[in-house]
Amino acid sequence: MEFEKKIAYIKGLIDGIGLDESKPESRVISAIVDALECAAEELKDVNDHVDMVDSDLAELEDWADDADESIDALFDEYADGEYDGYDDFDDGDEELYECYCPNCRNYICFDYDDVEDDLSLTCPYCGKKIENPFEDDGSGDDADEDDED
Ligand SMILES: [Zn+2]
Repeated sequence: MEFEKKIAYIKGLIDGIGLDESKPESRVISAIVDALECAAEELKDVNDHVDMVDSDLAELEDWADDADESIDALFDEYADGEYDGYDDFDDGDEELYECYCPNCRNYICFDYDDVEDDLSLTCPYCGKKIENPFEDDGSGDDADEDDED
């Protein structure tokens, strides 16, 4: 490393001259060289760390590339209609509906299987029958309805 070489050069110069340690300026020069050596060591540690982070980052990039390819492949499969991971959800009438129980004022999630023959639903909270749960009867005071004309 250039920095270490320069410090070694300075130390060589000092050795060549032969500092008189009894002089205060010589002690200052020694202290400066000490500090520089310390800095060089810490810089080396930092550089080692940067190398480590760099290789970790390269690993992460590889991983991200792989993940990217997997996702692309999934999208292609999905676009081609070959994706079968959706089968669990794709039963056609498994769609969930939500209605509001006028009796106990709870929201109920249900699907077609829960709806009885006379198109009513039994509220799982209060046990009362809700007539035609697909139709909002408007008697509720829910503010998030936007069916105004
Ligand atoms: Zn209820």
